[in-house]
Amino acid sequence: MTTLDEERITYPKLDDLIEQHQQQQPEQQPLTPTSIPSTASQGLFVDVDSENGKLKQRKQSQQQQQVSTSVSFNKQQEEEEEEEYNNSNENSLNNNNSKSILQSSIKEKSADLKSRYTAGKRRQEIVSVVSFVVLLSLSIEKMFSWYFARNIWIFFLSTVLAMLTADFFSGIVHWAADTWGSLDTPLVGNSFIRSFREHHVVPTQMTKHDFIETNGDNCMLTIPVLLFTAFAKVNDDSYDMFLQCFLVQLAFWVMLTNQIHKWSHTYSLPSFVSFLQNYGIILSKRDHAVHHRNPFDKYYCITNGWLNPYLASIGFWKRLEEIITHCTGAIPRADDQAWAGDNVDAPCE
Ligand SMILES: [Zn+2]
Ligand SMILES: [Zn+2]
Repeated sequence: MTTLDEERITYPKLDDLIEQHQQQQPEQQPLTPTSIPSTASQGLFVDVDSENGKLKQRKQSQQQQQVSTSVSFNKQQEEEEEEEYNNSNENSLNNNNSKSILQSSIKEKSADLKSRYTAGKRRQEIVSVVSFVVLLSLSIEKMFSWYFARNIWIFFLSTVLAMLTADFFSGIVHWAADTWGSLDTPLVGNSFIRSFREHHVVPTQMTKHDFIETNGDNCMLTIPVLLFTAFAKVNDDSYDMFLQCFLVQLAFWVMLTNQIHKWSHTYSLPSFVSFLQNYGIILSKRDHAVHHRNPFDKYYCITNGWLNPYLASIGFWKRLEEIITHCTGAIPRADDQAWAGDNVDAPCE
């Protein structure tokens, strides 16, 4: 049985229910970015996400491009570095090869020049040194007299003049031996010019020479002068005493020149030699290093080097060479360059 209260219960109509459902649906099913197709008219979420996506894509693309560029740049850089490394290795090998070829060439030349130092040459040097000592002693003994003692200015004046003259002579002889002739030149080739060629090929070789080999040739050069000073008659007057004193000292400094030259290439020296070098009384290492630069065409004076700057400033050696080349057609230092032309900058210790 139904009651009146039960009869009052009303049920919603189907159309009303459908309309109510349609009105409630948006609230019940909120829009989500994933559930809705991506169109420009369908809300902020879609647009921002789409733009973000594009930006992301662009960024990724840029990153990919950057990575790709970076990879290609790195690859290019690597290739360049590899090429550079290979080139440097190649250059280094070439340099090492050139260096070893140069060193072996210098060694061969040095050995060749050394082998030409004969027993006959050694005997000649010994005779020259002994003759020098005997003749110098006789000359000095003649020089000292009461007249000389009372006129000491003769000694100082002749000393300065003898040192300047010896320096100039050393320049002339050095220049002539360096610039002209060869080892085949008669008389002086193998004996005199040989040592100059050897010196440019291996400058320090002379520091290994003993007293005889160092000074033999220079002793020989002084013999004619010392024969005169030892045996010529000397009067007690200013002129004779000055001449005697000048010639004896000239012979002394000429003889000492190659020893001084050797000292300019030597590291460990007695303190008095260093003192003389430092005060410019004898050839300094620094001055002589100027000569040892290829092509060895200046600063030939090697006794004290006082004349080197002056002669260089007037182009003395160059002018002299031009005159000789004009008269004979000979090329300066042709033979020297054949021996020492490889030495870009020969060391001067
Ligand atoms: Zn020289
Ligand atoms: Zn030298």
